[in-house]
Amino acid sequence: MNENKIPYKIYLEESEMPKEWYNVRADMKNKPAPLLNPATLEPMTAEELGVVFCDELVKQELDNDNRYIEIPQKIRDFYKMYRPAPLVRAYCLEEKLQTPAKIYYKFEGNNTSGSHKLNSAIAQAYYARDQGLKGVTTETGAGQWGTALSMACSYLDLDCQVYMVKCSYEQKPFRREVMRTYGASVTPSPSESTEVGRKILAEHPGTSGSLGCAISEAVEVATHTEGYRYVLGSVLSQVMLHQSIIGVETKIAMDKYGIKPDIIIGCAGGGSNLGGLISPFMGEQLRGEAVYQFIAVEPASCPSLTRGVFAYDYCDTGMVCPLAKMYTLGSGFIPSANHAGGLRYHGMSSILSQLYHDGYMEARSVEQTAVFEAAEQFARVEGILPAPESSHAIKVAIDEAMKCKETGEEKTILFGLTGTGYFDMYAYEKFHDGLMTDYIPTDEDLKAGFDGIPRFPGNME
Ligand SMILES: *Cc1c(COP(=O)(O)O)cnc(C)c1O
Repeated sequence: MNENKIPYKIYLEESEMPKEWYNVRADMKNKPAPLLNPATLEPMTAEELGVVFCDELVKQELDNDNRYIEIPQKIRDFYKMYRPAPLVRAYCLEEKLQTPAKIYYKFEGNNTSGSHKLNSAIAQAYYARDQGLKGVTTETGAGQWGTALSMACSYLDLDCQVYMVKCSYEQKPFRREVMRTYGASVTPSPSESTEVGRKILAEHPGTSGSLGCAISEAVEVATHTEGYRYVLGSVLSQVMLHQSIIGVETKIAMDKYGIKPDIIIGCAGGGSNLGGLISPFMGEQLRGEAVYQFIAVEPASCPSLTRGVFAYDYCDTGMVCPLAKMYTLGSGFIPSANHAGGLRYHGMSSILSQLYHDGYMEARSVEQTAVFEAAEQFARVEGILPAPESSHAIKVAIDEAMKCKETGEEKTILFGLTGTGYFDMYAYEKFHDGLMTDYIPTDEDLKAGFDGIPRFPGNME
């Protein structure tokens, strides 16, 4: 079975690690639409964005032209603590499935935060520190982003204030304690400590919170506190830029062994890991140098690409953030309460939205019980206990491998294994006890979300 002498795990040498991030926007003919100021509907200027984000990150956010952006030495040094991430040939899964497909995954869970989010957390913390700021604020849902950011901030001596979606705060006390171990302060959201939090609590007493709401709180604190800025773990173009480290490393490793993937699969919440993984491959496709099949996988209960609309929308519930043009379910959309699998953001990266809109990428939605079945199947043969988010990609990778079994095709399948699932044991428990259910929003459910999307000339008319 080892006919090509491809090892189970391909690790790059430290000297082979990327020194630059790749900015896929440089190769896009149709650039992602700019962020708009919700008051004027004009593109956000660097100055306006600078109130919320630190200066270097504003530059990266607005940079549609520079193909490569140097990774500062200090960030590269931090990356060496947990990178290069292994590219794994899933020989055991292939054998179990009896498929002629060759399956690879890039594993990003080898760090305490348990996900790829650290790749951008350290970059954002670095630029904040470099600008002489005192601290940053952010939101976290499941907790991976808050954990990653608290690790990065403690490394760089930055204060870190995390607004954690209340239901996660209560359901995942251990996540909270990991963040506090790294020195972060963690507040359940919505909270009484911000104006927008008080407003949301007044309108929806007893709400268990949402990502969009936590974002509003974190932004309010950042913009009202001297020496603070806000940072976001996904969706933004700067985040996808930092996450390109995943794809660039993968490409170097694959090129080294002469492997070319036919299909590249990633789970899609806000789009950062998928965008990061596919970036260099998408670049080749955009430049006409190669063709790949890209598949974004999202939960059927939060189907922004497969059932959302492509429009300018609010990024947060409190409507304090700029408008982004993206595939969206509306900022008021909240997945049904039984949804346990993460990836619950209502929108999607503007870059990925544009690429999807232009036909460069496919999207599929999958139901959570099928996702947990795939997760368990994977864990039992590959050993790694996957995060529910990552398991969306596993599910579709297995589907594609089974198609190959039917047709006899020896396709090469690459997917992103974004993290581990140790903090998701309540969800696994529900699955094992047979209590996990699927809920697919009705058109009517979705319409309620769409009704909250702003109407203005050229948008939703
Ligand atoms: C946050 C997270 C995701 C989804 O975020 P993207 O920005 O879409 O990548 C996926 N997997 C894990 C493990 C995560 O923590």
